[in-house]
Amino acid sequence: MALIVQKYGGTSVGSVERIQAVAQRVYKTVKAGNSIVVVVSAMGKTTDGLVKLANEISPSPNRREMDMLLSTGEQVTIALVSMALQELGQPAISMTGAQVGIVTEAEHTRARILHIETDRLSRHLNEGKVVVVAGFQGISSTGEMEITTLGRGGSDTSAVAVAAALGADFCEIYTDVPGILTTDPRLVPEAQLIDEITCNEMLELASLGAKVLHPRAVEIARNYGVPLVVRSSWSDDPGTWVTSPKPQGRSLVNLEIARPVDNVEFDTDQAKVSLLRVPDKPGVAARLFGEISRQKVDVDLIIQSIHEGNSNDIAFTVTTPILKRAEAVAAAIAPALRSPSNPKSEEAEVMVEQNIAKVSIAGAGMIGRPGVAAKMFATLAEAGVNIQMISTSEVKVSCVVDAAACDRAVTALRTAFEIAAGDKQTKRQPAQRALSPLSPLPPVRGVALDMNQARLAIRQLPDRPGIAAKLFGLLAQYNISVDMIIQSQRCRVIDGIPRRDIAFTVARMDGENTKKMLAQVATELGWGEVVLDSAIAKVSIVGAGMVGQPGIAAKMFEALAQHQINIQMIATSEIKISCVVAQEQGVMALQAIHTAFGLAGSEKLVIPA
Ligand code: ADP
Ligand code: ASP
Ligand code: MG
Repeated sequence: MALIVQKYGGTSVGSVERIQAVAQRVYKTVKAGNSIVVVVSAMGKTTDGLVKLANEISPSPNRREMDMLLSTGEQVTIALVSMALQELGQPAISMTGAQVGIVTEAEHTRARILHIETDRLSRHLNEGKVVVVAGFQGISSTGEMEITTLGRGGSDTSAVAVAAALGADFCEIYTDVPGILTTDPRLVPEAQLIDEITCNEMLELASLGAKVLHPRAVEIARNYGVPLVVRSSWSDDPGTWVTSPKPQGRSLVNLEIARPVDNVEFDTDQAKVSLLRVPDKPGVAARLFGEISRQKVDVDLIIQSIHEGNSNDIAFTVTTPILKRAEAVAAAIAPALRSPSNPKSEEAEVMVEQNIAKVSIAGAGMIGRPGVAAKMFATLAEAGVNIQMISTSEVKVSCVVDAAACDRAVTALRTAFEIAAGDKQTKRQPAQRALSPLSPLPPVRGVALDMNQARLAIRQLPDRPGIAAKLFGLLAQYNISVDMIIQSQRCRVIDGIPRRDIAFTVARMDGENTKKMLAQVATELGWGEVVLDSAIAKVSIVGAGMVGQPGIAAKMFEALAQHQINIQMIATSEIKISCVVAQEQGVMALQAIHTAFGLAGSEKLVIPA
């Protein structure tokens, strides 16, 4: 007999018939000898309807009242599902988040779960009842026992958290697609089912726009080792398993907010190659990285940022032994990258930096917590370490620093994030990075598109330790999460101070306010202009198998070039590559990349309306 948590999303409980079908499935699972907790979403598009109502009354509704409003949707579903089970003769009881004791922070509309009382759940289960729990909602621990919600899509997070708290055997997420697919089937109907995916890959895909799972649900599954499967509520097909590493025996106290960082890593075997002033037009990155991959040079991080004028900088890191080859390729290609419309323009210039190291903080618990990266930058600033490059992912923030500062950086970060010495081996072994070429892992598991981002650029920030700390500390204060942070490689001396530009992406709804806030402090902090572009799209490829495989980036850039899509920004982590393109080219970019990696199947998927 197993204890199973089953979660049913909006479409899966979108009508009386669907609710009856859900009850049938639950009933069958109980009859097979299992105990079941059901977590449900609001019916169909109820939550969207409630948001619309609120917006008709106020353009920026009070967040507490939003929670009061939005939490009603799930309350309807729990009662109906419970009734449907009782009609089948199955004892069942519905419970709101507050009745269960899903205790959260008091942060309205984006609360994180602190802990879940299991007494009431267990008592009902022991009495042979199915417990039907309202997803997406909780109750605040402090003061007035306020109703909170977890953020849109948060029922997945409720379900996995309940599974972790109860020590359930597994958690099933029932939805309107057969499982996790290579991309969103609504945009690419030829998307194919993935049988199994690692938590880290899924965390990236979910955060980069694949809404099939709430990223925080994946974080909890990973941290507590909850076996997780995504399946269709229309069939008995097996769906997609999300696999976690062995859990480290974490406490269930402060469930979503404890220990976001469990390791500090470093790699001193790194060198950086930058190409300055390459033309800002489609095909440049494709050409450069195409040649690099033909020379079998494996690059680690790649960044490309935007600039004033019509040229870009591209920088990448490689391991020291292949630096000479990488440099030769870059030098050979630089003259050819001169802008044809402006043959007199300065030639692209190659810059090599040998003595660098990459230091990283790693752990699952950084999503929606901009303070974690800000703390890393502040710690490095206090230790007097200048940051040359930043790479972020959902499970890692890496900074490229001067090799001489590596030890200092690692020691400071270990202290700041309370990583005991000897906790783990932190020096990354090159052997671990290069997977065997026979590795069965496909290099790219999935492609995601995020159309809800905006890009901000700040011009001419002084280049000295503490700038990233200041900037991202400010953003964290306002709870603004940042993705794709890129500092320009080009350095300009103005008023005797070397300066660089920095660009990053934020959620589109945070764009205007972030710009205003940054513009207000710009003069005081000696920064230049703050520029906002909301008409962007971010397209990303994710796959643990891309580690140690040259040519993956080149293939992505080539697919974009073939469709004349200009790349505005590039940022990578070990298992993802993201490009910012113009918003109107987002869907085309997604389709082109999905096809280029051979992910499309021959059959089109039909999704229930
Ligand atoms: P639910 O209401 O069941 O939680 P959601 O609408 O939140 O369902 O998530 C399921 C939807 O996620 C699918 O209908 C699909 O359009 C979208 N989606 C985006 N990316 C992916 C992907 N890689 N795999 C599967 N579905 C995806
Ligand atoms: N009903 C909520 C939403 O639509 C939560 C969920 O479905 O996961 O966002
Ligand atoms: Mg969902």
